[in-house]
Amino acid sequence: MSLVDRIKPHIRDLAPYQPGKPIEELERELGIRGSIKLASNENPLGPSPKAVEAMRAAAGDIHRYPDGASFALRRKLSDRLGIEGRQLVFGAGADEILELIAKTLLGPGDEVVYGWPSFAMYPIVVKGMGAVGVPVALDERFVHDLDAMAKAVTERTRVVMVCNPNNPTGTSVGADAFARFVDALPDDVVLAIDEAYFEFVRREDFPDVVSLIARRPGTIALRTFSKIYGLAGIRIGYGICDPELASYLERARHPFNVNRLAEVAAMAALDDEEHVRRTLEVNVRGIEYLTTELGRMGIETWPTDANFLLARAGAGVYDALLRKGVIVRPMKGFGLDDHVRISIGLPEENERLVKALGEIRDGEAAA
Ligand SMILES: *Cc1c(COP(=O)(O)O)cnc(C)c1O
Repeated sequence: MSLVDRIKPHIRDLAPYQPGKPIEELERELGIRGSIKLASNENPLGPSPKAVEAMRAAAGDIHRYPDGASFALRRKLSDRLGIEGRQLVFGAGADEILELIAKTLLGPGDEVVYGWPSFAMYPIVVKGMGAVGVPVALDERFVHDLDAMAKAVTERTRVVMVCNPNNPTGTSVGADAFARFVDALPDDVVLAIDEAYFEFVRREDFPDVVSLIARRPGTIALRTFSKIYGLAGIRIGYGICDPELASYLERARHPFNVNRLAEVAAMAALDDEEHVRRTLEVNVRGIEYLTTELGRMGIETWPTDANFLLARAGAGVYDALLRKGVIVRPMKGFGLDDHVRISIGLPEENERLVKALGEIRDGEAAA
């Protein structure tokens, strides 16, 4: 009997998530320096300075276990969102909320419907429970095909995931289309709406999940402090749902999953309006600049409601950019070999990307 025979087949057969490599590692591999990373949708301004200060102040207390109920953060956030405290579930990133949903609701043979391409963690957490992922292709504009998703629901469907705005396309669905979709869903299917990029959304008719949760129990929204608040490294995210669903997710949660520094950082970041305002400003300017400049080069981009842009830059461009010290995210794993996902950077980083793309084009033209 070898170890592999003891491993649960659905774990053995998983393809692990491929995170973007750390800059230091890539630079070492390629023998380059001074590269920029526009690959993981991190905040180019860095973390909220108030959050950093709060973590410094709390560092002397880390011999104490954290507050397992995240009482202070729960109160602040529930006030902010206009919901009850017991509607919130906190996790080490929104990723952990995904895990809690899977652990609580899924077993072998259960089905989960999600759009595709979408967040690469969905198939991993689903398959990790021995459940079956049912990917439904986005439409030709790379927007969720909600009609097709509703049709993909069967008696075995336990959860439907909608990533809105969608990673890696940046596209979003509006309130009317979403309401029709929700009406078509059976009540006993849990609807999980991943709103990791919620704070960046610019469209006016974005669906209001808090009111949807009040009308439709069995709905959960996922949010994170990793993106707009710049706290990806400290790992904190949350789910918003009805108190009953929250009570089941709480049973599956480890008591100290959110660490002390993460809780104080999140609270300070929520109050750092200046950092949020600057982040949104840098993001909008970056989207406008990159959309214009890439368009000029004949590179197609998709309208984005997030802090990244999907661009049809051409096959081989990911590697060519890498050699120039510009790290973006390849889309090969999604079968979109000629696309890359570009996280919006600081103005000078965006300019460097545009310059590198121009050089790659000129190099091709000369060849
Ligand atoms: C980044 C991201 C998350 C998870 O972020 P955490 O760092 O785990 O909070 C979840 N969903 C999507 C679509 C994301 O892009």
